[in-house]
Amino acid sequence: MAASEESLRKALAEKQSAVEAHGNAVRALKAAKASKPEIDAAIEALNSLKLEKSSIEKQLQAAVSGSDGDGALSREAFRQAAVNTLERRLFYIPSFKIYRGVAGLYDYGPPGCAVKSNVLAFWRQHFVLEENMLEVDCPCVTPEVVLKASGHVDKFTDLMVKDEKTGTCYRADHLLKDFCNEKLQKDLTISAEKAAELKHVLATLDDLSAEALGAKIKEYGITAPDTKNPLSDPYPFNLMFQTSIGPSGLSPGYMRPETAQGIFVNFKDLYYYNGNKLPFAAAQIGQAFRNEVLKSVFESGKISPRQGLLRVREFTLAEIEHFVDPEDKSHPKYSEVVDLEFLMFPREEQMSGQSAKKIRLGDAVSKGTVNNETLGYFIGRVYLFLTRLGIDKDRLRFRQHLANEMAHYAADCWDAEIECSYGWIECVGIADRSAYDLRAHSEHHVKNVFDEGQREGNIDFIGTNLDKSGVPLVAAEKFSEPREVEKLVIAPVKKELGLAFKGSQKNVVEALEAMNEKEALEMKAALESKGEVEFYVCTLGKNVPIKKNMVSISKEKKKEHQRVFTPSVIEPSFGIGRIIYCLFEHSFYTRPSKAGDEQLNVFRFPPLVAPIKCTVFPLVQNQQYEDVAKVISKSLTTAGISHKIDITGTSIGKRYARTDELGVPFAITVDSTKDVTIRERDSKLQVRVSVEEAALVVKSVTDGLRTWEDVWEKYPHHTSGSADD
Ligand code: AMP
Repeated sequence: MAASEESLRKALAEKQSAVEAHGNAVRALKAAKASKPEIDAAIEALNSLKLEKSSIEKQLQAAVSGSDGDGALSREAFRQAAVNTLERRLFYIPSFKIYRGVAGLYDYGPPGCAVKSNVLAFWRQHFVLEENMLEVDCPCVTPEVVLKASGHVDKFTDLMVKDEKTGTCYRADHLLKDFCNEKLQKDLTISAEKAAELKHVLATLDDLSAEALGAKIKEYGITAPDTKNPLSDPYPFNLMFQTSIGPSGLSPGYMRPETAQGIFVNFKDLYYYNGNKLPFAAAQIGQAFRNEVLKSVFESGKISPRQGLLRVREFTLAEIEHFVDPEDKSHPKYSEVVDLEFLMFPREEQMSGQSAKKIRLGDAVSKGTVNNETLGYFIGRVYLFLTRLGIDKDRLRFRQHLANEMAHYAADCWDAEIECSYGWIECVGIADRSAYDLRAHSEHHVKNVFDEGQREGNIDFIGTNLDKSGVPLVAAEKFSEPREVEKLVIAPVKKELGLAFKGSQKNVVEALEAMNEKEALEMKAALESKGEVEFYVCTLGKNVPIKKNMVSISKEKKKEHQRVFTPSVIEPSFGIGRIIYCLFEHSFYTRPSKAGDEQLNVFRFPPLVAPIKCTVFPLVQNQQYEDVAKVISKSLTTAGISHKIDITGTSIGKRYARTDELGVPFAITVDSTKDVTIRERDSKLQVRVSVEEAALVVKSVTDGLRTWEDVWEKYPHHTSGSADD
């Protein structure tokens, strides 16, 4: 906790006791019928204590809301202004609006679509092109077996609590988070110790188990926000939308909750396509679906959909799976990012209540804070991607996952979090997932079983017969010289197994052969000491007794020509909608109109993401100017620059204001048939350029070949009149 906040809480508690003591003293004087001057003096002292208390309260309120006292209010007001503009100008439209919409589903309108397509184009350029990634495009509908193998059917859950009377569901962690925030910001009477405890709960929220979450909810007496009814214990709720594939209803499937699985199941072919070489990365952009619970916010006592456009039920993900040898996680281009310095928030700093600090990426990797070079490389590339899009670098931090927050198999995870009016929001997850995903699919392969009577090519895929043989999703390193290695040999004795297990013999043999080294050596030791062990055969779904004479387990020396291994996966996963929303907030500002009577909205998008790069206006309605505007418009089309031509007679100031609101960076105004003015949105400065050059000047700046400052230096300035009017 910040020292000032802590000392203010202490000072407030002391002042409160003093006020109470003085209040009692005044009452005692009155009861004792003391003299009027004596009572008046005591009341005066009490009033001045109350004034001092209220001044401390104000300072504390300012400290907890991180602003000059009405920060929370202005954050909301800012969001409201931005969201109103976004909805009015059709960046977003609540989906199915004429039917009153559905929570968590939004459409992108025309400028929103253009921004999204620019962000995705830049993503492809910055990642896919730069690293020669292999892009794929897989279906959203996914058979159950794939998501069973990946762990999503069993584990892709959020912890929920239910209103015990009405059955309304809430996310358990969100309720606890909202409770702590509300208490810290609104209840100034809590002690410094209690405030520190609540802050610790907030910092470690993602680390809490179901039991710990339930215990905290009980301890704090948290009830259902709508009804104040008691809540159930936390229980897991699977976030996937279930469906079935084909008309029979026999093949269960899900709408994919992420795009990554499509890449993993194609690993073998992609590895071959890449010339059987590692490292390589595959990428996919596509829709993901999660049946999020959206209700729970305490916001000043009101219940409202949580995090509006940030937490939705269908969203675009852009994912990279970088496959690498687990024994060599260096990256050839690591030196290009090593000197980048930005806000990082390592695990230790979070646990000890500190805040994020600027760290040189190279130092974080060399000290082992970031697990390896490739992970560090992608963290650096994500930083460059986001800041080039227009995300404010001071409101961007990389937060390391806490120990329990991270999946058990992951080597290290960092989230790129962007601060907006909702707080710090996870927009990109960057994880070293080790060999988990490829192993999960190798060990859980399914035989294609086709509906009886249906012809191939017109079949529903039914994946019900699990087959341990699997498709090995592995890579190989060929040795220049053969190497002698010690190999584990598992040799099931089929005759003995056949006698013991008859028809199930095949299942037992396959399960024995599929044991990993640790399991096999444990079995060997147990057989030697006890002569018999219980062994779980998953395809039979039960334990069977294995005797010493049924299997031989030994280690043998062998010459090997290659090393076969399961590659590790480093996965940067981008929530495109969240990045775009944060970009909208970071780009939005208001400025007074020329007359000073209203506030005008502006999005300061960099040309790279602006939905329209340029507008063309004839200054006044006149055929000659309109003709020039059409010529320039044609040149802009030829140059591939998105633009809008506006030949209405509306005042030029209004036309500028309308396009500033869409974040259009440049406006060409035709006020002669020879040359025109180009106005830059944020500075409102204008230069004069010949009609022939106008489109090329705009193109060179929007393509990033030169800056507006270069243009300002090169061309004559237009000073007559103002760009507002
Ligand atoms: P995850 O697979 O949970 O790490 O999510 C990957 C990325 O998807 C996150 O970093 C978010 O940017 C984004 N994301 C996750 N859930 C949602 C959601 N409900 N709405 C919008 N974006 C989301």
